[in-house]
Amino acid sequence: MNNKGVLAAALLVPALASPRGFFPESAKEETRWEERYRSLPDSKVIRENARVLSAEPHHVGSPYDEKNARWILAKFREFGLDASIETFYPLFSTPKERLVEMIEPVRFRASLAETPVEGDPTSSQTAEQLPTYNVYSIDGDVTAPLVYVNYGLPDDYEKLDSLGIDVRGKIVLARYGASWRGIKPKVAAEHGAIGCLIYSDPHDDGYFAGDVYPKGPYRPSQGVQRGSVSDGPLYAGDPLTPGVGADRPRASFDLADAKTLTKIPVLPISYGDARPLLEALAGPVAPREWRGGLPLTYHVGPGPAKVHLKVAFDWRLTPVHDVIARINGSTYPDEWVIQGNHHDAWVNGTNDPVSGMSALLEEARALGTLVKEGWRPRRTVLLCVWDGEEPGLLGSTEWAETHAAELQKKAVVYINSDSNGPGFFNVSGSHSLEALVNEVASEVEDPEKKIPVARRWRLRRVEEAKTAEERRDYRERANVRIGALGSGSDYTTFVDHLGIASLNYGFGGEGGGGVYHSIYDDFAWYTRFSDTDFAYGRTLAQTAGTTVLRLADADLLPFDFAGTSDAVAKYVKEVQALAKERREAAEERNRRVDEGLFEAVANPKHPSVAPAKETPVPAFDFSPLEKASSSLADAAKDFEAARAGAEKLRGSSLARVNEMLRRAERALTREEGLPRRPWFKHYVYAPGFYTGYDVKTLPAVREAIEEKQYADVDANVKRTAEAIENLAALVREATAALR
Ligand SMILES: [Zn+2]
Repeated sequence: MNNKGVLAAALLVPALASPRGFFPESAKEETRWEERYRSLPDSKVIRENARVLSAEPHHVGSPYDEKNARWILAKFREFGLDASIETFYPLFSTPKERLVEMIEPVRFRASLAETPVEGDPTSSQTAEQLPTYNVYSIDGDVTAPLVYVNYGLPDDYEKLDSLGIDVRGKIVLARYGASWRGIKPKVAAEHGAIGCLIYSDPHDDGYFAGDVYPKGPYRPSQGVQRGSVSDGPLYAGDPLTPGVGADRPRASFDLADAKTLTKIPVLPISYGDARPLLEALAGPVAPREWRGGLPLTYHVGPGPAKVHLKVAFDWRLTPVHDVIARINGSTYPDEWVIQGNHHDAWVNGTNDPVSGMSALLEEARALGTLVKEGWRPRRTVLLCVWDGEEPGLLGSTEWAETHAAELQKKAVVYINSDSNGPGFFNVSGSHSLEALVNEVASEVEDPEKKIPVARRWRLRRVEEAKTAEERRDYRERANVRIGALGSGSDYTTFVDHLGIASLNYGFGGEGGGGVYHSIYDDFAWYTRFSDTDFAYGRTLAQTAGTTVLRLADADLLPFDFAGTSDAVAKYVKEVQALAKERREAAEERNRRVDEGLFEAVANPKHPSVAPAKETPVPAFDFSPLEKASSSLADAAKDFEAARAGAEKLRGSSLARVNEMLRRAERALTREEGLPRRPWFKHYVYAPGFYTGYDVKTLPAVREAIEEKQYADVDANVKRTAEAIENLAALVREATAALR
C-alpha cells in the first residue's frame, strides 16, 4: 500500500454519529427497500427526460412551459402517483423595448442579441427565445455618463469614494459575479445612479476561463446572462404579494405595491457589447482587482462615454404551474417529506434546471416502482415541480405561502435540487440533518471513482481547505460539515420564511462553463461539456431518493443536534472575530487620518480623497450568545445519549418526540422576522442584505456590525440568543420524552 493508500484508509476511520432512525425490527426491511430503490434510476431515461424538457425555450408564461408541466403531470400519473397542477398568478414582465447606445464620444449601438451556433440546433429557436433582459427592472429611459463600478457592491463604492468619483446622476456598468445580480442595481440606486448595465466579463466565465462555445464550454462574446434583479433579500416570490399566496387571478394590480422591483432601469449585456463602452471610458485606471479579461486598459470614468439606456416591459399577472405528486403515508399521513426542483428555465435550460429536474422525474419513476412492489412509506412523500423559480422563486413561494399553516404543522424536511453536473457532492442545509446527509452519502457510489460519494466529498473538502485546522476538521470529524443555506433556489421560502428544516443537493465541479442563463445552456452544450452520459443525474436521484426513503420510513426522525450546536458555536466565534476586526480597522484608519498619512502618501498624478474619521466600534456584550450556544451544546449531548435508548419508545410518545423534532428548525426563527425584512424569519442564517445568494450566519448581529448600526448590536445579540435558547429548550424537552 503506498502513502496515498494509507491516508485514504485512515480517512475511513471516523465512525459516523448515527441517527439512522430505524429500530432493529424495521431496519432490515428499510435497508432492503433502500437498496432496491438505488438499483432503479437509469441514466438513459434521465437523458431522454432532459431531451424532451429542454427541446424548446420554456420560460414562465411560454407555451412550452405549460406543455412541460402537463408532460410531467402525465409522467407522474404514468408512474402511479397521485398528481395535480396548482396554478398561481404572480407578476412577471417581458421586454417590449430594449436599447443601449453610446452617443458620445463615439456612436455605438449594442446588439443585445445572442447569435445561433452551428451544430447546436436549439440555439436558432430565435422566435421562441426570451430576449436578453433582467426581469423586475423597472421601465426607464435615461442618458448619462458611464462609470465602471467593478462588481457594484458596497466596498466598490467605498473605493470609488477614495478616487473622488461620484455616481450620482450616472449610469453604472457593473460586471457579473460576487453577489446576487439584484444587489448591483440596488446598491447603485442607493448611491444615486440612474441606470445600471451588467455585463459578463470574459475573465469570469468567458475566454479567460477557457475555450468559448462551441469550441469549449465558456461564454462566447455575444452570450448574455439573463436573470432576475428583484430585491430578493427583502422577500421572495411574487413582488406583489409577500407572505400571501397569489392563488387566483386578479382583475388589476398596482406596480407601486411591488417593493422588490429595482429603483432604476437595468439591462444585462455581453462582453461583445460592453467592450466599446469600456474602451470609451477615461478617468482613473481601475484598481488592479477590478480589471477583467478584455484586451484594454480598464478605466473607471465617469465618461467621456455617454450612454442612452431605454427599457420598457409588458407587465402581467402570469400563470405559473406547479406540479405536485403525492405518495400517501401509511402510518403518519400527516407528516410530509417534501422534495422539489423547478421546471421553468430562462431559455432551453438543459443545465439550469433540467439536469436536476430530469433526475427528480426519474426518482419519481423509481418510487412509483417501489410502490407497485409493495412499499408503503410511513410518512407522506410530496414531489414538487416548481414553475417560476428563475424570476423569483415564484412557484415554490406562492405554494408555500398558500399552504403555510398546514406546512408548519406537517412538513418534516424540504429537499431541494436544481442544476446538476459531474463531480463532487455539494450540499448545504439545516445542520440538524448533517448526520443524516453523511450517512446517505456513504451509501451512494460515485460513478467515476467507484468510491462512496461521502468519501470523495470528504477528500475534496480536505483538498480545498485553506488552513491546517480546517484540514484536520475534515479529516477527523465524524461527519463532514454542511454549510448553511443562503438563497438562490426554491428552498428559501421553506427554511427562511416557514422554518422548515431544508437541504439543497447537487453535484458539480468538473463541468464548468459559461452558458448560465443564455441560449447556449441547451442539450447540445450539456451533452458535450457537462454530465454527458447523465451518470451524475443518476447519482443525484439515488442520493435524494435515499434521503426521502430514510426520512419517510424512520421510526424516530433522524435529526441530530450535535451538528447544529457545533455550527452555532462556530458562528458565535465568527461574529466576535468580526467585531474585533472591525474595531481594529476603524482604529487603524482613524490613526492614519490623525497622522496625515493619506495626504503624505497621495500621488498628485492620481487624484484621491482621504477618508473621514470613522465612528469607533464600541464593545458589545456577546455573553447571551455564548450562554445560549453552550446551553444548546449541553442539550445536544444529552439528546444524543438519550437517543441510544429510544428503541423502547412506541406509539404516542414516539409521535410526540417526532412532532418536537419537526418543530426544531422553527425554534430558530422569530415571528417578527429580521430587523429590516420581516419576511425572513430565521435568526441563525439568511441570505445577506447586500450579497443575496450568500449566507450570512447570525444575520441580525452580523449585519448590524457590518453596516455600522452599533446601537442595535446588543439587542440583536439578545434576540438571536433567545432563538438559540428556544431550540435548546425544545431539545431538552425531546430528551426528557425519550427517557
Ligand atoms: Zn435553477
